[in-house]
Amino acid sequence: MLTNIHCDYCEEESDMEYNFLQKYFHLYFIPVIPLKKKTTVGCENCGYLYEDKEFTKAIDTKLNRVKDRYPIRTPIWAFSGLIIITLFFCWAFWQSGRHDVVEGDYINNPKKGDVYFLNFTSGNYTTLRIDKVDKTNVYYTLNDTSVYKYTKVFSITNDKYYTNKKGIYTRQKIQDLYKKDSIISITRK
Ligand SMILES: [Zn+2]
Repeated sequence: MLTNIHCDYCEEESDMEYNFLQKYFHLYFIPVIPLKKKTTVGCENCGYLYEDKEFTKAIDTKLNRVKDRYPIRTPIWAFSGLIIITLFFCWAFWQSGRHDVVEGDYINNPKKGDVYFLNFTSGNYTTLRIDKVDKTNVYYTLNDTSVYKYTKVFSITNDKYYTNKKGIYTRQKIQDLYKKDSIISITRK
């Protein structure tokens, strides 16, 4: 409360109630970035609400005294949205990096049982399963079926789909296919 200030509207010496408002930029109700601070002062006598730019010299002087005594700090939670977003992007970045490292390792050291998701021609996805590996070659069985959507490929991973389409790739060849994105991804149990 600011005491004993002359009000330009009711021409009385009156007490005035002050209010500090911190505005935020919100994202889904989470404060992300603190925007400007807004201060209002209301006359207790006539009820007139002064906005920042209308403050008289008397109001300004008393208000500054209050601000000096109780400095307003922007609380850390005001940045909670920003912190959440930053953490999320760090996590996503770390995840994607980790994924590539693991797959790179799989393609350099193929193992029996690895399943490769393939995309040799556009709109046509299938898989192959590694049966055997030696120093230079990778022996595989190609899936009997194929699907037209990447997301459907999980419906044809059952062992019964690998029957007689046997083949051999050199280790170098599968690395080339991986680089060309003909091998989209690799799963290992
Ligand atoms: Zn007044």
